[in-house]
Amino acid sequence: NVVESTQPAAPTHGRIVMYPLPLEGHFCPMLQLASILHTQGFKIIIIHGDHYHPNHSDYPHFTFKPISCRFSEIGKHMPEKPDPSFYITYDNENCANSFKDCLVGLLAEPDEPPVVCLITDAEYYITQEIADSLKVPRMVVWACNLVALLVYHDLTYFYEKGYFNLTKKDPEYEASVPEYPFLKVKDVIKTTTTPNSMGKYLSKVMKQMKGSSGIIWNSFKEPEEATLETLTHYFPIPRFILGPLPKYLSSSTSSILFEQDRTFFSWLDAQALNSVIYVSFGSLSSISKEEFQEVAYGLANIDVPFLWVVRPGMVEGLEQLEWLPEKFLEDVGDRGHIVKWCPQKEVLAHAAIGCYWTHCGWNSTLESICEGVPMICSPFTVGQPLAARYVSDVWKIGILLEDGLDREVIKRAVKRVMFDEEGEEMRGRINILKEEVNISFHEGGSSHQTLKSLVDYILSFKP
Ligand code: UDP
Repeated sequence: NVVESTQPAAPTHGRIVMYPLPLEGHFCPMLQLASILHTQGFKIIIIHGDHYHPNHSDYPHFTFKPISCRFSEIGKHMPEKPDPSFYITYDNENCANSFKDCLVGLLAEPDEPPVVCLITDAEYYITQEIADSLKVPRMVVWACNLVALLVYHDLTYFYEKGYFNLTKKDPEYEASVPEYPFLKVKDVIKTTTTPNSMGKYLSKVMKQMKGSSGIIWNSFKEPEEATLETLTHYFPIPRFILGPLPKYLSSSTSSILFEQDRTFFSWLDAQALNSVIYVSFGSLSSISKEEFQEVAYGLANIDVPFLWVVRPGMVEGLEQLEWLPEKFLEDVGDRGHIVKWCPQKEVLAHAAIGCYWTHCGWNSTLESICEGVPMICSPFTVGQPLAARYVSDVWKIGILLEDGLDREVIKRAVKRVMFDEEGEEMRGRINILKEEVNISFHEGGSSHQTLKSLVDYILSFKP
């Protein structure tokens, strides 16, 4: 990788202020970007809400600035059915003043190198006006894939077109989206259950993205090439496809949520090559008791070793593992391991892992591509159904479980990926993508070039 051998350079280029969203799939790539920019000679300041506590000891070179976001008062404002737009809007609006005060303070700090730019999560739309008023260039990080950005950009259009009134019975439900022929209408429908409020919220995000000084993605050019032209049309500002971000770094990024369990590695080391299925649905998705049991039966019914992440809070109402089918642990014995949270990047890189049963969060999808592990996709919502469609129909590196979690379907999918010729072909294709990622990091490759252009671009802001 590009930067692991480079010691952090002396921070001579000035300070970059970064403002990540406090969600695992957003926070981790932002901190990875921070680490990369630090090695390129920038001093890093991380502003974050005081309702969560990043592990400072993992980033001894960064300065952390907690700000008050009044999250303890969120209950007073909670609608009956809050959706993601409610939480992120609350975060935007309630942190705005303390964010601005913090930035003003940083700009006025004596004996410090100049603040060259602000980099925020794209969803912190409120920060654009603040940055403009203080004459600080703001760049944004988009935490999902390109096609998700385009679909979100058009969400109100799809809503007005009536997509969200369609049901499985309508023929259009299964049809391709004319503007994005790789996607099906049902994929767009699955991105949200509240298209009206999400559309309004996203229009603010998109407007402020267009007003920013540039967009940075965690991705790589080759698999997303087909969408680049539309993107250029919608966002005629500087664009940097930088990534996959974890590939630039040798160490894992620590979680803001959970302690990593590493106790299973001795078991994993003893498993045969490509023999284990890794199962994880990310940091946010939740499933019902019935779905949890279908997953368990699915894993019990296959003769394949498995590592299953059952995150606290993943199953509503579940404290421990009391809803596992009777005698599940006994029957499975040493064939399976259940953990609360694991170092996923290392797990996917392990030679024993032969398949990743995933929710298709963007980070997880990229991590699987980087390690050449074919996937079984059980997407839930937001960008996941879109990424899953690409995995199964465009890149053909996995199987999409279209109709929820069902033990028999799971059994067949595992057989197809792990034992059939079809699975071997998927492995072949994902290894080609993996190789393309590796090549993109070589001198002259797209990821290598983009990092250089991004650093040059940020330096051009220097007063
Ligand atoms: N992850 C992890 N350990 C686990 C499960 C997940 O480190 O046991 C990490 C995973 O490597 C990824 C992130 O959590 O980087 C999840 O982000 P993603 O975008 O895939 O999904 P989200 O959690 O946002 O739905």
